[in-house]
Amino acid sequence: MIGIFGGTFDPVHYGHLRSALEAKELFGLSEVRLIPCSVPPHRPQPVAAPFQRLQMLKLGINNRPGWVVDTRELDRAGPSYMVDTLRSLRNEFPGRPLLLFIGCDAFNGLTSWHRWQHLFEYAHLAVLTRPGFAPQPLNEFFKLRLAEEKEQLRQAPAGKLFFQPITLLDVSATRIRQAIAEKRNPDFLLPDAVLDYIRSQGLYEK
Ligand code: ATP
Repeated sequence: MIGIFGGTFDPVHYGHLRSALEAKELFGLSEVRLIPCSVPPHRPQPVAAPFQRLQMLKLGINNRPGWVVDTRELDRAGPSYMVDTLRSLRNEFPGRPLLLFIGCDAFNGLTSWHRWQHLFEYAHLAVLTRPGFAPQPLNEFFKLRLAEEKEQLRQAPAGKLFFQPITLLDVSATRIRQAIAEKRNPDFLLPDAVLDYIRSQGLYEK
């Protein structure tokens, strides 16, 4: 099973990296693909440029085996719709179970995503816990797809919804950007190499 984790990564931080690591272990993923978006359709535009967000992601991952930085959204023109991303991954990996994982905050906005129901034609969805966010009540569409055991995900290439508790880390890119703008030290919220790069580029300073 291949794991897929999309985001703005503005900047990547330990909340992202720990989520990816735990998802990889818990679901026995052969690889985890981190996909920085180009033009996020559902939120304000990123502060850092695409090449800077990509570089920070690469520094954060630091060549870990089984971790892939996937640039397909940056290479594509127009808004970064996850449904288009999953369709292209499905074409690349026919028949393989794909697992899109997202934090609970993202899940609560999922029904506003472009063609959100179609995500389940291409992948399973795992919702990871995130401090401060409880999952929205499940609609009938979600209830029909809910899996009680994660082993059910291996039995089909796509179509299931699963809730996965992970270590709760109350880290957000917004607060890291704020700390830098206010000249506070965001050490220990993100990898040193990423923070060194932010400082070298003067990113997020007021
Ligand atoms: P921002 O503060 O700029 O909105 P963010 O920290 O939420 O950014 P994103 O790149 O927008 O990070 O998030 C990408 C994905 O990572 C989303 O699915 C989000 O739910 C998840 N995520 C981010 N931070 C955490 C965290 N601390 N714990 C669990 N999931 C997280």
